[in-house]
Amino acid sequence: MYTFTDEAKKAAVTPTKLQLEELLVLVNSNRKSDIELITRGYEFSKKAHAGQKRYSGKPYFHHPFETAKYLAALQMPASMIVAGMLHDTVEDADVEPQTIADIFGEDIAEMVEGVTKLGTVRYHGMQRHTESLRKLFAATSRDIRVMVVKLMDRLHNARTLQFVPAHKRGRIALETLEIYAPIADRLGMGVIKRELEDAVFPHAFPKEYKKSTKIFKDVGGEDIKRLDRIQNNVRKKLAEYGIKKFRTESRIKGLYSFYRKLERKDSDVTKIFDIWALRIIVPTVTDCYTVLGIVHGEWRPFPGRMKDYIAFPKPNGYKGIHTTIHINDGSVIEIQIRTEEMHREAQFGVASHFVYKDSKSSTKIDNNAALNWIRQFIPVRLWVEGQDKSPSKKAVHTYTDAATPAWLKSMADAQKIDGENPRSFLQNIKNDFFSHRVFVFTPRGDVIDLPIDSSPIDFAYAIHSEIGNKMSGAKVNGKMAALSSSLKNGDIVEIATSEKSHPNQKWIGLTKTTLAKRHIRAYLQRVKEMST
Ligand code: MN
Repeated sequence: MYTFTDEAKKAAVTPTKLQLEELLVLVNSNRKSDIELITRGYEFSKKAHAGQKRYSGKPYFHHPFETAKYLAALQMPASMIVAGMLHDTVEDADVEPQTIADIFGEDIAEMVEGVTKLGTVRYHGMQRHTESLRKLFAATSRDIRVMVVKLMDRLHNARTLQFVPAHKRGRIALETLEIYAPIADRLGMGVIKRELEDAVFPHAFPKEYKKSTKIFKDVGGEDIKRLDRIQNNVRKKLAEYGIKKFRTESRIKGLYSFYRKLERKDSDVTKIFDIWALRIIVPTVTDCYTVLGIVHGEWRPFPGRMKDYIAFPKPNGYKGIHTTIHINDGSVIEIQIRTEEMHREAQFGVASHFVYKDSKSSTKIDNNAALNWIRQFIPVRLWVEGQDKSPSKKAVHTYTDAATPAWLKSMADAQKIDGENPRSFLQNIKNDFFSHRVFVFTPRGDVIDLPIDSSPIDFAYAIHSEIGNKMSGAKVNGKMAALSSSLKNGDIVEIATSEKSHPNQKWIGLTKTTLAKRHIRAYLQRVKEMST
């Protein structure tokens, strides 16, 4: 898959010739209308960004072009590839959203708008806001496609971080680790999560990166020989037992994920068993258990390390069987058993359901499959790591509430699915899960979360009491707004202040937050005391 090849990593930094053909070979469609649409998107973006440069000094178009390639490699439909190509034209090339709508249609224009809006959200390293921010990103992205485009945009930016000025680099790296990678993980896009993490790891934690790289190399060299041997042995055994259809592959743990685990294991590398794992991929679920039986029959499993994520999928939908076995030389290795379908989903998660059902005959995105994919793991069946007895009903309930992200749950609760109309599916997954809070931005992109129906006055006091007390007016999304207006998710709010302005009694009725009401009352009280 292009996104995680060395070729992609090289092209991320050193542009190829940026020719349309490089993109088209990755596109999973040979329909004329798709090729034509992608061609127009390519020409449009190239023209829009003409003359612009990246921090790297390379043509700006290099960035949307790679983003589009990632989307094509993920086998996303033409509309998403084009949205990826155009994603920076509004923000950075002054293209009017209406122009995009006129040329490429509302659907693509809305995706571009969604990605543009996400770009205004900034992470300022406030730990306590991290979870809200993740939710906010999901909420602002409105439909999952926007999030997928944004993740590919970020992946390319993450891979070119060395060109970004040093003072910005750390924030982008942390934001990637704290916000984007977890979202990729929750959407089941394991490969993308790992690529994002490993791209920014050296920038986020340079010392730890160096240390981990060294340890990783020291233990890795030994493992690679061992892995080859065990791979051959496993293949031989499976064949002996008459298993004909299977393939094996080895996977190396991502460096960042290795570092995190090393931290959890008090830097004791001998406690990490899954630096290298052997995957066995078979056609059916039954085959998975058969293979597990063969493996456990031949090699002694490490107690307590067998995890059946087929019977009990992870909260993000991950399925497969993991077991750690003793090898004859005294070492241990993790074996992962899964079907092809599980394998695909483990890598690309929700994105694997935007893939065309049949690239030759169907023009529809398989939206039902995407929604069903989300549904299948909500509510989550109980699986608490290390717990072996069967759960009580109450425990199931508790776990479900605690571990399923609310936004994921609400997507699954989306009303009816209209199989004929992909747009209605997207409407349905538009997030209404913030039924109690709205998330609005300062002009700098800081996030303020407020109760629903909050007004600009609430916003002003949430920033600082002095700003509230001197507030003279407000702009919402660049336009003057009444102090009584209700703020909506994603609004950008700017407060004007003046020395002459001050709160009045009426403001109490225009506010939702107790914080604002308290400050207004206190101010009015002070004025009253001064005048008597
Ligand atoms: Mn971009």
